[in-house]
Amino acid sequence: DRVPIRRALISVYDKTGLEELAQGLHAAGVRIVSTGSTARNIPAAGVPVTEVSEVTGFPECLDGRVKTLHPRVHAGILADRRLEDHVRQLKDLEVEAFDLVVVNPYPFVQTVRSGASQDEVVEQIDIGGPSMVRAAAKNHPSVAIVVDPARYGDVVEAAKSGGFDLKTRRRLASLAFAHTAAYDTAGAKWTAAQFGDDADAAEMPAFPPYAGLALERSESLRYGENPHQAAALYVEVGAEPGIAQAEQLHGKAMSFNNYVDADAAVRAAFGFAEPAVAVVKHANPCGIAVASPGAADPIADAHAKAHATDPVSAFGGVIAANRPVTEAMAETVKNIFTEVVVAPAFEPEAVRILSAKKNIRLLALPGGFSRDAVEYKQVSGGMLLQAADAIDAAGDDPAAWTLAAGEAADEATLADLVFAWRAVRSAKSNAILIAPNGAAVGIGMGQVIRLDSCRLAVERANTLGVAVGGGADAPGGAENAAGTGAPERARGAVAASDAFFPFADGLQILIDAGVKAVVQPGGSVRDEEVIEAAKAAGITMYFTGARHFFH
Ligand code: 5GP
Repeated sequence: DRVPIRRALISVYDKTGLEELAQGLHAAGVRIVSTGSTARNIPAAGVPVTEVSEVTGFPECLDGRVKTLHPRVHAGILADRRLEDHVRQLKDLEVEAFDLVVVNPYPFVQTVRSGASQDEVVEQIDIGGPSMVRAAAKNHPSVAIVVDPARYGDVVEAAKSGGFDLKTRRRLASLAFAHTAAYDTAGAKWTAAQFGDDADAAEMPAFPPYAGLALERSESLRYGENPHQAAALYVEVGAEPGIAQAEQLHGKAMSFNNYVDADAAVRAAFGFAEPAVAVVKHANPCGIAVASPGAADPIADAHAKAHATDPVSAFGGVIAANRPVTEAMAETVKNIFTEVVVAPAFEPEAVRILSAKKNIRLLALPGGFSRDAVEYKQVSGGMLLQAADAIDAAGDDPAAWTLAAGEAADEATLADLVFAWRAVRSAKSNAILIAPNGAAVGIGMGQVIRLDSCRLAVERANTLGVAVGGGADAPGGAENAAGTGAPERARGAVAASDAFFPFADGLQILIDAGVKAVVQPGGSVRDEEVIEAAKAAGITMYFTGARHFFH
Protein backbone atom coordinates (compact mmCIF):
# COMPACT_ATOMS: atom_id res chain seq x y z
CA ASP A 1 0.00 0.00 0.00
CA ARG A 2 2.94 2.34 -0.51
CA VAL A 3 2.47 5.31 -2.85
CA PRO A 4 5.75 6.06 -4.66
CA ILE A 5 6.78 9.70 -4.39
CA ARG A 6 7.35 11.10 -7.86
CA ARG A 7 6.15 14.67 -7.57
CA ALA A 8 6.17 16.88 -4.47
CA LEU A 9 4.66 20.25 -3.65
CA ILE A 10 6.70 22.20 -1.13
CA SER A 11 5.54 25.51 0.35
CA VAL A 12 7.12 26.31 3.69
CA TYR A 13 7.36 29.42 5.78
CA ASP A 14 9.94 27.84 8.09
CA LYS A 15 12.86 27.05 5.79
CA THR A 16 14.58 24.84 8.39
CA GLY A 17 15.93 21.68 6.75
CA LEU A 18 14.62 22.74 3.32
CA GLU A 19 17.94 22.30 1.48
CA GLU A 20 18.48 18.77 2.81
CA LEU A 21 14.89 17.89 2.02
CA ALA A 22 15.18 19.18 -1.56
CA GLN A 23 18.51 17.43 -2.10
CA GLY A 24 17.24 14.15 -0.62
CA LEU A 25 14.07 14.21 -2.70
CA HIS A 26 15.98 15.14 -5.86
CA ALA A 27 18.46 12.31 -5.28
CA ALA A 28 15.49 9.95 -4.99
CA GLY A 29 14.19 11.16 -8.38
CA VAL A 30 11.36 13.32 -7.08
CA ARG A 31 10.29 16.39 -9.10
CA ILE A 32 9.63 19.48 -6.98
CA VAL A 33 7.05 22.24 -7.37
CA SER A 34 7.28 25.20 -5.02
CA THR A 35 5.93 28.66 -4.10
CA GLY A 36 7.88 31.93 -4.46
CA SER A 37 10.47 32.20 -1.75
CA THR A 38 10.56 28.46 -1.11
CA ALA A 39 11.37 27.97 -4.80
CA ARG A 40 14.06 30.62 -4.62
CA ASN A 41 15.77 28.76 -1.74
CA ILE A 42 15.89 25.40 -3.50
CA PRO A 43 18.28 26.13 -6.40
CA ALA A 44 20.83 27.15 -3.77
CA ALA A 45 20.86 23.46 -2.90
CA GLY A 46 21.62 22.65 -6.53
CA VAL A 47 18.17 21.20 -7.12
CA PRO A 48 15.84 22.06 -10.04
CA VAL A 49 12.41 23.36 -9.08
CA THR A 50 9.24 24.37 -10.89
CA GLU A 51 7.46 27.51 -9.67
CA VAL A 52 3.83 26.97 -8.82
CA SER A 53 2.90 29.94 -11.07
CA GLU A 54 4.26 27.95 -14.02
CA VAL A 55 1.96 25.08 -13.06
CA THR A 56 -1.11 27.28 -12.63
CA GLY A 57 -0.34 29.70 -15.45
CA PHE A 58 -1.42 32.38 -12.98
CA PRO A 59 0.90 34.73 -11.08
CA GLU A 60 1.12 34.73 -7.29
CA CYS A 61 -0.87 37.83 -6.41
CA LEU A 62 -2.44 40.03 -3.73
CA ASP A 63 0.77 40.11 -1.67
CA GLY A 64 0.88 36.33 -1.59
CA ARG A 65 -2.72 35.88 -0.49
CA VAL A 66 -3.29 33.81 -3.63
CA LYS A 67 -0.45 31.50 -4.62
CA THR A 68 -1.58 27.91 -4.60
CA LEU A 69 -5.35 28.40 -4.50
CA HIS A 70 -5.89 27.04 -8.00
CA PRO A 71 -7.58 23.95 -9.51
CA ARG A 72 -4.30 22.83 -11.10
CA VAL A 73 -2.86 22.60 -7.58
CA HIS A 74 -5.89 21.34 -5.70
CA ALA A 75 -7.00 18.82 -8.35
CA GLY A 76 -3.44 17.49 -8.28
CA ILE A 77 -3.66 17.04 -4.51
CA LEU A 78 -7.25 15.80 -4.29
CA ALA A 79 -7.45 13.21 -7.07
CA ASP A 80 -8.02 9.74 -5.64
CA ARG A 81 -5.58 7.63 -7.63
CA ARG A 82 -7.43 4.43 -6.76
CA LEU A 83 -10.32 5.65 -8.94
CA GLU A 84 -9.88 5.20 -12.67
CA ASP A 85 -12.28 8.04 -13.29
CA HIS A 86 -10.20 10.51 -11.26
CA VAL A 87 -7.03 9.44 -13.07
CA ARG A 88 -8.77 9.88 -16.43
CA GLN A 89 -10.12 13.31 -15.50
CA LEU A 90 -6.63 14.50 -14.50
CA LYS A 91 -5.37 13.34 -17.88
CA ASP A 92 -8.14 15.16 -19.75
CA LEU A 93 -7.53 18.33 -17.78
CA GLU A 94 -3.77 18.00 -18.17
CA VAL A 95 -3.27 18.16 -14.42
CA GLU A 96 -0.39 16.24 -12.85
CA ALA A 97 -0.90 14.58 -9.46
CA PHE A 98 1.14 15.26 -6.32
CA ASP A 99 2.25 12.33 -4.15
CA LEU A 100 3.71 14.45 -1.38
CA VAL A 101 2.76 17.85 0.08
CA VAL A 102 5.10 19.63 2.48
CA VAL A 103 3.65 22.80 4.01
CA ASN A 104 4.09 24.83 7.09
CA PRO A 105 1.95 27.88 7.40
CA TYR A 106 2.69 31.49 8.28
CA PRO A 107 3.56 31.93 11.96
CA PHE A 108 0.27 33.41 13.03
CA VAL A 109 0.64 32.74 16.75
CA GLN A 110 4.18 34.14 16.92
CA THR A 111 3.02 37.27 15.11
CA VAL A 112 0.24 37.78 17.64
CA ARG A 113 2.75 37.37 20.46
CA SER A 114 5.17 39.86 18.91
CA GLY A 115 2.61 42.61 19.51
CA ALA A 116 2.09 43.25 15.79
CA SER A 117 -0.77 45.47 14.62
CA GLN A 118 -4.13 44.01 13.62
CA ASP A 119 -3.38 44.39 9.92
CA GLU A 120 0.00 42.71 10.27
CA VAL A 121 -1.57 39.83 12.18
CA VAL A 122 -4.33 39.47 9.58
CA GLU A 123 -1.70 39.24 6.84
CA GLN A 124 -0.17 36.32 8.75
CA ILE A 125 -3.34 34.29 8.61
CA ASP A 126 -2.39 31.65 6.07
CA ILE A 127 -5.23 30.54 3.82
CA GLY A 128 -3.58 28.67 0.96
CA GLY A 129 -1.21 26.68 3.20
CA PRO A 130 -3.86 25.12 5.45
CA SER A 131 -6.07 24.53 2.39
CA MET A 132 -3.35 22.33 0.89
CA VAL A 133 -2.75 20.65 4.23
CA ARG A 134 -6.43 19.76 4.63
CA ALA A 135 -6.74 18.65 0.99
CA ALA A 136 -3.70 16.38 1.25
CA ALA A 137 -4.81 15.03 4.65
CA LYS A 138 -8.25 14.19 3.24
CA ASN A 139 -6.65 12.41 0.32
CA HIS A 140 -4.19 10.38 2.44
CA PRO A 141 -5.00 7.18 0.47
CA SER A 142 -3.07 8.81 -2.39
CA VAL A 143 -0.96 11.59 -0.84
CA ALA A 144 1.43 12.04 2.08
CA ILE A 145 1.21 15.33 4.00
CA VAL A 146 4.05 16.65 6.15
CA VAL A 147 3.80 19.77 8.30
CA ASP A 148 6.78 19.36 10.61
CA PRO A 149 10.43 19.94 9.56
CA ALA A 150 11.44 17.35 12.18
CA ARG A 151 10.00 14.68 9.84
CA TYR A 152 11.99 15.59 6.71
CA GLY A 153 14.45 12.77 7.42
CA ASP A 154 11.57 10.26 7.29
CA VAL A 155 10.34 11.87 4.07
CA VAL A 156 13.66 11.37 2.29
CA GLU A 157 13.86 7.80 3.57
CA ALA A 158 10.35 7.10 2.26
CA ALA A 159 11.13 8.70 -1.13
CA LYS A 160 14.14 6.37 -1.46
CA SER A 161 12.22 3.26 -0.41
CA GLY A 162 9.03 3.39 -2.47
CA GLY A 163 6.97 5.91 -0.49
CA PHE A 164 5.05 5.93 2.79
CA ASP A 165 2.75 3.03 3.65
CA LEU A 166 -0.94 3.68 4.27
CA LYS A 167 -0.66 3.50 8.04
CA THR A 168 1.99 6.22 8.06
CA ARG A 169 0.04 8.40 5.62
CA ARG A 170 -2.98 8.10 7.90
CA ARG A 171 -0.92 9.13 10.92
CA LEU A 172 0.53 12.05 9.00
CA ALA A 173 -3.00 13.08 7.99
CA SER A 174 -4.13 13.01 11.59
CA LEU A 175 -1.20 15.19 12.67
CA ALA A 176 -1.95 17.55 9.78
CA PHE A 177 -5.62 17.93 10.74
CA ALA A 178 -4.60 18.54 14.36
CA HIS A 179 -2.23 21.20 13.07
CA THR A 180 -4.84 23.06 11.01
CA ALA A 181 -7.41 22.69 13.80
CA ALA A 182 -5.00 24.32 16.25
CA TYR A 183 -4.21 27.00 13.68
CA ASP A 184 -7.86 27.84 13.10
CA THR A 185 -8.67 27.79 16.81
CA ALA A 186 -5.84 30.23 17.45
CA GLY A 187 -7.37 32.42 14.75
CA ALA A 188 -10.81 32.15 16.34
CA LYS A 189 -9.38 33.04 19.72
CA TRP A 190 -7.50 36.03 18.39
CA THR A 191 -10.39 37.45 16.36
CA ALA A 192 -12.72 36.99 19.31
CA ALA A 193 -10.26 38.84 21.52
CA GLN A 194 -9.73 41.66 18.99
CA PHE A 195 -13.13 42.34 17.70
CA GLY A 196 -15.34 40.76 20.31
CA ASP A 197 -19.00 40.23 19.90
CA ASP A 198 -20.86 42.85 21.84
CA ALA A 199 -23.68 40.61 22.95
CA ASP A 200 -21.38 37.87 24.19
CA ALA A 201 -18.89 40.30 25.64
CA ALA A 202 -21.59 41.79 27.83
CA GLU A 203 -22.43 38.35 29.14
CA MET A 204 -18.90 37.12 29.65
CA PRO A 205 -16.62 40.13 29.80
CA ALA A 206 -13.68 38.08 31.02
CA PHE A 207 -13.86 35.50 28.26
CA PRO A 208 -12.41 36.76 25.01
CA PRO A 209 -10.86 33.34 24.37
CA TYR A 210 -14.16 31.50 24.64
CA ALA A 211 -13.69 30.35 21.08
CA GLY A 212 -11.93 27.36 22.56
CA LEU A 213 -8.69 25.67 23.34
CA ALA A 214 -6.02 25.02 20.74
CA LEU A 215 -3.85 22.24 22.07
CA GLU A 216 -0.86 20.54 20.55
CA ARG A 217 0.51 17.28 21.83
CA SER A 218 3.87 17.90 23.42
CA GLU A 219 5.09 14.69 25.02
CA SER A 220 3.87 11.30 26.12
CA LEU A 221 4.05 10.74 29.84
CA ARG A 222 4.97 7.36 31.31
CA TYR A 223 1.52 7.21 32.84
CA GLY A 224 -1.16 9.41 34.37
CA GLU A 225 -2.12 9.88 37.99
CA ASN A 226 -1.76 6.10 38.41
CA PRO A 227 0.29 3.56 36.48
CA HIS A 228 -2.71 2.06 34.67
CA GLN A 229 -3.71 5.44 33.16
CA ALA A 230 -2.23 6.51 29.80
CA ALA A 231 -1.31 10.19 29.69
CA ALA A 232 0.31 12.94 27.65
CA LEU A 233 1.13 16.62 27.99
CA TYR A 234 -0.60 18.99 25.59
CA VAL A 235 0.53 22.55 25.19
CA GLU A 236 -1.91 25.36 24.56
CA VAL A 237 -1.13 27.15 21.33
CA GLY A 238 -0.54 30.82 21.97
CA ALA A 239 -0.75 30.50 25.75
CA GLU A 240 1.29 32.71 28.04
CA PRO A 241 4.34 30.82 29.32
CA GLY A 242 3.65 28.43 32.18
CA ILE A 243 4.63 25.02 33.47
CA ALA A 244 3.88 23.43 30.09
CA GLN A 245 6.60 25.62 28.54
CA ALA A 246 9.21 25.01 31.26
CA GLU A 247 12.67 23.88 30.25
CA GLN A 248 14.02 20.84 32.05
CA LEU A 249 17.68 21.25 32.96
CA HIS A 250 18.20 17.99 34.76
CA GLY A 251 16.63 14.79 36.04
CA LYS A 252 14.20 12.06 35.08
CA ALA A 253 11.26 12.78 32.80
CA MET A 254 8.46 14.74 34.43
CA SER A 255 5.50 12.65 35.49
CA PHE A 256 1.83 13.60 35.35
CA ASN A 257 1.77 14.22 39.12
CA ASN A 258 5.03 16.21 38.90
CA TYR A 259 3.37 18.58 36.44
CA VAL A 260 0.30 19.00 38.62
CA ASP A 261 2.37 19.68 41.73
CA ALA A 262 4.83 21.96 39.93
CA ASP A 263 1.92 24.01 38.64
CA ALA A 264 0.43 24.33 42.12
CA ALA A 265 3.85 25.27 43.49
CA VAL A 266 4.59 28.05 41.00
CA ARG A 267 1.08 29.35 41.37
CA ALA A 268 1.72 29.62 45.12
CA ALA A 269 5.23 31.10 44.94
CA PHE A 270 4.52 33.50 42.09
CA GLY A 271 1.57 34.92 43.98
CA PHE A 272 4.08 37.10 45.84
CA ALA A 273 6.04 40.08 44.60
CA GLU A 274 8.79 39.56 47.19
CA PRO A 275 11.12 36.52 47.04
CA ALA A 276 8.95 33.51 47.94
CA VAL A 277 9.14 29.73 48.05
CA ALA A 278 6.41 27.11 48.18
CA VAL A 279 6.86 23.42 48.91
CA VAL A 280 4.02 21.35 47.50
CA LYS A 281 2.80 17.81 48.06
CA HIS A 282 -0.30 16.44 46.33
CA ALA A 283 -1.09 19.91 44.93
CA ASN A 284 -1.18 21.50 48.40
CA PRO A 285 1.48 23.62 50.05
CA CYS A 286 3.18 21.99 53.04
CA GLY A 287 5.44 25.02 53.22
CA ILE A 288 5.20 28.59 52.03
CA ALA A 289 7.18 31.65 53.02
CA VAL A 290 8.61 34.97 51.88
CA ALA A 291 12.14 36.14 52.58
CA SER A 292 12.70 38.15 55.75
CA PRO A 293 13.53 41.79 55.05
CA GLY A 294 17.29 42.25 54.83
CA ALA A 295 18.07 38.53 54.40
CA ALA A 296 21.54 38.06 52.89
CA ASP A 297 20.31 35.50 50.33
CA PRO A 298 16.57 36.19 50.12
CA ILE A 299 15.49 33.13 48.15
CA ALA A 300 17.57 30.77 50.30
CA ASP A 301 16.00 32.42 53.36
CA ALA A 302 12.49 32.00 51.95
CA HIS A 303 13.25 28.35 51.25
CA ALA A 304 14.59 27.71 54.76
CA LYS A 305 11.43 29.24 56.22
CA ALA A 306 9.12 27.31 53.83
CA HIS A 307 10.90 24.06 54.63
CA ALA A 308 10.50 24.74 58.35
CA THR A 309 6.71 25.01 57.96
CA ASP A 310 6.52 21.22 57.90
CA PRO A 311 9.92 19.59 57.46
CA VAL A 312 8.38 16.13 57.68
CA SER A 313 5.94 16.54 54.80
CA ALA A 314 8.53 18.33 52.65
CA PHE A 315 10.09 14.91 51.99
CA GLY A 316 9.43 14.09 48.32
CA GLY A 317 7.96 17.50 47.63
CA VAL A 318 8.01 19.92 44.72
CA ILE A 319 9.71 23.24 45.44
CA ALA A 320 8.93 26.43 43.52
CA ALA A 321 10.90 29.64 43.92
CA ASN A 322 9.90 32.95 42.32
CA ARG A 323 13.56 34.04 42.04
CA PRO A 324 16.60 32.26 40.54
CA VAL A 325 17.86 29.41 42.72
CA THR A 326 21.12 30.41 44.36
CA GLU A 327 24.07 28.31 45.43
CA ALA A 328 23.07 28.71 49.09
CA MET A 329 19.53 27.48 48.42
CA ALA A 330 20.88 24.54 46.40
CA GLU A 331 23.18 23.57 49.28
CA THR A 332 20.13 23.15 51.52
CA VAL A 333 17.85 21.54 48.93
CA LYS A 334 20.43 18.88 48.07
CA ASN A 335 19.99 17.40 51.56
CA ILE A 336 16.20 17.12 51.23
CA PHE A 337 14.68 14.41 49.07
CA THR A 338 12.88 16.50 46.46
CA GLU A 339 11.03 15.52 43.27
CA VAL A 340 11.16 18.83 41.38
CA VAL A 341 12.64 22.29 41.80
CA VAL A 342 11.10 24.93 39.55
CA ALA A 343 12.29 28.52 39.32
CA PRO A 344 12.72 31.32 36.76
CA ALA A 345 16.38 30.29 36.50
CA PHE A 346 19.23 28.57 38.37
CA GLU A 347 22.69 29.91 39.12
CA PRO A 348 25.20 27.66 37.29
CA GLU A 349 26.64 26.62 40.63
CA ALA A 350 23.16 25.66 41.85
CA VAL A 351 22.66 23.46 38.79
CA ARG A 352 26.02 21.79 39.44
CA ILE A 353 25.19 21.09 43.09
CA LEU A 354 21.69 19.77 42.43
CA SER A 355 22.67 17.77 39.34
CA ALA A 356 24.72 15.56 41.62
CA LYS A 357 21.33 14.09 42.52
CA LYS A 358 20.35 11.80 39.70
CA ASN A 359 16.60 11.95 40.11
CA ILE A 360 15.81 15.52 41.10
CA ARG A 361 14.13 17.37 38.24
CA LEU A 362 15.20 20.96 37.65
CA LEU A 363 12.75 23.10 35.69
CA ALA A 364 13.55 26.60 34.49
CA LEU A 365 10.92 29.05 33.35
CA PRO A 366 12.89 31.14 30.83
CA GLY A 367 9.73 32.84 29.58
CA GLY A 368 8.58 33.55 33.13
CA PHE A 369 5.28 32.36 34.51
CA SER A 370 1.90 33.87 33.99
CA ARG A 371 -1.31 32.37 35.03
CA ASP A 372 -3.70 31.80 32.14
CA ALA A 373 -6.45 34.38 32.19
CA VAL A 374 -9.07 31.70 31.77
CA GLU A 375 -9.12 28.38 33.59
CA TYR A 376 -10.83 25.24 32.38
CA LYS A 377 -12.13 22.38 34.45
CA GLN A 378 -13.46 19.25 32.87
CA VAL A 379 -16.80 17.96 34.04
CA SER A 380 -18.30 14.82 32.57
CA GLY A 381 -19.56 15.68 29.11
CA GLY A 382 -18.34 19.27 29.15
CA MET A 383 -16.09 21.96 30.40
CA LEU A 384 -16.34 24.75 32.94
CA LEU A 385 -14.61 28.03 32.17
CA GLN A 386 -13.78 30.76 34.62
CA ALA A 387 -11.64 33.86 34.80
CA ALA A 388 -8.64 32.82 36.86
CA ASP A 389 -8.41 34.02 40.44
CA ALA A 390 -6.26 37.12 40.17
CA ILE A 391 -2.83 37.39 41.74
CA ASP A 392 -3.80 40.84 42.89
CA ALA A 393 -7.43 40.43 43.74
CA ALA A 394 -10.08 42.55 45.33
CA GLY A 395 -9.57 42.31 49.08
CA ASP A 396 -5.77 42.09 48.89
CA ASP A 397 -5.17 45.70 49.81
CA PRO A 398 -5.24 45.97 53.62
CA ALA A 399 -6.17 49.64 53.30
CA ALA A 400 -9.59 48.43 52.16
CA TRP A 401 -10.06 45.88 54.97
CA THR A 402 -12.56 46.53 57.72
CA LEU A 403 -11.55 46.10 61.31
CA ALA A 404 -14.24 43.81 62.67
CA ALA A 405 -12.84 43.27 66.17
CA GLY A 406 -9.98 44.35 68.42
CA GLU A 407 -7.35 46.99 67.91
CA ALA A 408 -5.83 47.89 64.56
CA ALA A 409 -2.80 45.70 63.90
CA ASP A 410 0.68 47.17 64.20
CA GLU A 411 2.86 47.24 61.09
CA ALA A 412 4.54 43.86 61.60
CA THR A 413 1.29 42.10 62.42
CA LEU A 414 -0.40 43.66 59.42
CA ALA A 415 2.46 42.46 57.18
CA ASP A 416 1.93 38.93 58.51
CA LEU A 417 -1.80 39.16 57.89
CA VAL A 418 -1.16 40.30 54.32
CA PHE A 419 1.23 37.37 53.83
CA ALA A 420 -1.21 34.84 55.34
CA TRP A 421 -4.08 36.18 53.24
CA ARG A 422 -2.02 35.74 50.03
CA ALA A 423 -0.67 32.36 51.06
CA VAL A 424 -3.92 30.72 52.14
CA ARG A 425 -5.35 30.81 48.62
CA SER A 426 -2.82 28.29 47.37
CA ALA A 427 -4.19 25.66 49.76
CA LYS A 428 -7.26 23.68 48.79
CA SER A 429 -10.47 24.74 50.50
CA ASN A 430 -11.40 24.75 53.28
CA ALA A 431 -8.11 26.38 54.13
CA ILE A 432 -6.71 27.92 57.29
CA LEU A 433 -3.14 29.16 57.43
CA ILE A 434 -1.25 30.22 60.56
CA ALA A 435 1.82 32.40 60.07
CA PRO A 436 4.33 34.33 62.10
CA ASN A 437 7.09 36.35 60.39
CA GLY A 438 6.17 35.77 56.74
CA ALA A 439 6.13 31.98 56.94
CA ALA A 440 3.33 29.47 57.34
CA VAL A 441 3.72 27.25 60.39
CA GLY A 442 0.43 25.40 60.21
CA ILE A 443 -1.84 24.86 57.23
CA GLY A 444 -5.13 23.04 57.44
CA MET A 445 -6.59 22.34 54.02
CA GLY A 446 -8.91 20.24 51.94
CA GLN A 447 -11.29 19.45 54.80
CA VAL A 448 -15.03 19.15 54.36
CA ILE A 449 -15.59 21.27 57.47
CA ARG A 450 -13.66 24.45 58.32
CA LEU A 451 -13.52 23.41 61.97
CA ASP A 452 -11.25 20.51 61.03
CA SER A 453 -9.01 22.79 58.97
CA CYS A 454 -8.61 24.98 62.07
CA ARG A 455 -7.75 21.93 64.20
CA LEU A 456 -5.26 20.68 61.61
CA ALA A 457 -3.57 24.05 61.24
CA VAL A 458 -3.09 24.36 64.99
CA GLU A 459 -1.96 20.77 65.40
CA ARG A 460 0.60 21.14 62.62
CA ALA A 461 1.83 24.46 63.99
CA ASN A 462 2.35 22.96 67.42
CA THR A 463 3.75 19.54 66.66
CA LEU A 464 5.79 19.82 63.46
CA GLY A 465 8.03 22.71 64.41
CA VAL A 466 11.72 22.21 64.56
CA ALA A 467 13.14 25.25 66.27
CA VAL A 468 14.70 26.82 63.18
CA GLY A 469 16.21 30.04 64.51
CA GLY A 470 13.44 29.96 67.08
CA GLY A 471 12.91 27.65 70.00
CA ALA A 472 11.32 28.49 73.31
CA ASP A 473 12.83 31.98 73.40
CA ALA A 474 11.59 33.08 70.00
CA PRO A 475 8.23 34.82 69.56
CA GLY A 476 5.60 32.15 69.42
CA GLY A 477 8.15 29.68 70.64
CA ALA A 478 6.69 28.79 74.04
CA GLU A 479 7.08 25.16 75.04
CA ASN A 480 4.23 23.02 73.73
CA ALA A 481 1.69 22.24 76.42
CA ALA A 482 1.34 18.73 75.00
CA GLY A 483 4.94 18.16 75.97
CA THR A 484 6.10 17.10 72.49
CA GLY A 485 9.09 19.37 72.79
CA ALA A 486 8.00 21.23 69.68
CA PRO A 487 7.52 24.99 70.04
CA GLU A 488 3.96 26.28 70.19
CA ARG A 489 4.19 28.15 66.94
CA ALA A 490 0.58 29.28 66.78
CA ARG A 491 0.98 31.39 69.92
CA GLY A 492 1.38 35.03 68.97
CA ALA A 493 0.98 34.25 65.25
CA VAL A 494 -1.72 35.42 62.83
CA ALA A 495 -4.16 33.32 60.80
CA ALA A 496 -6.02 33.62 57.52
CA SER A 497 -9.16 31.81 56.42
CA ASP A 498 -9.89 31.45 52.70
CA ALA A 499 -13.64 31.93 53.32
CA PHE A 500 -15.78 33.15 56.20
CA PHE A 501 -16.19 31.28 59.49
CA PRO A 502 -19.76 29.98 59.42
CA PHE A 503 -19.73 29.62 63.22
CA ALA A 504 -17.50 30.89 66.02
CA ASP A 505 -16.19 27.40 66.87
CA GLY A 506 -13.39 27.33 64.26
CA LEU A 507 -12.18 30.77 65.25
CA GLN A 508 -12.28 29.71 68.90
CA ILE A 509 -9.79 26.91 68.16
CA LEU A 510 -7.38 29.47 66.71
CA ILE A 511 -7.94 31.78 69.69
CA ASP A 512 -7.30 28.95 72.14
CA ALA A 513 -4.03 28.20 70.36
CA GLY A 514 -2.91 31.78 70.99
CA VAL A 515 -3.44 33.36 67.55
CA LYS A 516 -3.44 37.15 68.03
CA ALA A 517 -4.95 38.37 64.76
CA VAL A 518 -7.13 36.88 62.03
CA VAL A 519 -8.02 37.90 58.50
CA GLN A 520 -11.06 36.44 56.77
CA PRO A 521 -13.61 37.57 54.16
CA GLY A 522 -16.56 38.02 56.54
CA GLY A 523 -20.07 37.80 55.20
CA SER A 524 -21.50 34.91 57.20
CA VAL A 525 -25.05 35.20 58.53
CA ARG A 526 -23.45 34.52 61.93
CA ASP A 527 -20.74 37.18 61.60
CA GLU A 528 -22.00 38.77 64.86
CA GLU A 529 -21.32 35.54 66.76
CA VAL A 530 -17.84 35.31 65.26
CA ILE A 531 -17.08 38.97 66.02
CA GLU A 532 -18.23 38.47 69.63
CA ALA A 533 -15.81 35.56 70.06
CA ALA A 534 -12.93 37.66 68.71
CA LYS A 535 -13.85 40.58 70.94
CA ALA A 536 -14.18 38.36 74.02
CA ALA A 537 -10.68 37.02 73.39
CA GLY A 538 -9.29 40.49 72.69
CA ILE A 539 -7.85 39.51 69.31
CA THR A 540 -7.75 41.59 66.14
CA MET A 541 -9.95 40.51 63.24
CA TYR A 542 -10.16 42.00 59.76
CA PHE A 543 -12.74 41.39 57.04
CA THR A 544 -11.47 41.54 53.45
CA GLY A 545 -14.82 41.32 51.71
CA ALA A 546 -13.41 38.83 49.18
CA ARG A 547 -12.91 35.10 49.40
CA HIS A 548 -10.55 32.66 47.72
CA PHE A 549 -11.99 29.18 47.38
CA PHE A 550 -9.58 26.89 45.55
CA HIS A 551 -10.75 23.38 44.74
P1 5GP B 1 6.93 31.17 0.13
O1 5GP B 1 7.81 31.50 1.31
O2 5GP B 1 7.35 29.92 -0.56
O3 5GP B 1 6.75 32.34 -0.81
O4 5GP B 1 5.48 30.88 0.73
C1 5GP B 1 5.34 29.79 1.59
C2 5GP B 1 4.17 30.03 2.49
O5 5GP B 1 3.04 30.40 1.72
C3 5GP B 1 3.79 28.80 3.26
O6 5GP B 1 3.77 29.15 4.64
C4 5GP B 1 2.40 28.42 2.73
O7 5GP B 1 1.61 27.89 3.78
C5 5GP B 1 1.88 29.73 2.21
N1 5GP B 1 0.97 29.62 1.08
C6 5GP B 1 0.99 28.75 0.06
N2 5GP B 1 0.00 29.03 -0.81
C7 5GP B 1 -0.69 30.08 -0.32
C8 5GP B 1 -1.82 30.84 -0.76
O8 5GP B 1 -2.41 30.57 -1.80
N3 5GP B 1 -2.23 31.86 0.04
C9 5GP B 1 -1.59 32.19 1.19
N4 5GP B 1 -2.04 33.19 1.95
N5 5GP B 1 -0.52 31.49 1.63
C10 5GP B 1 -0.06 30.46 0.89
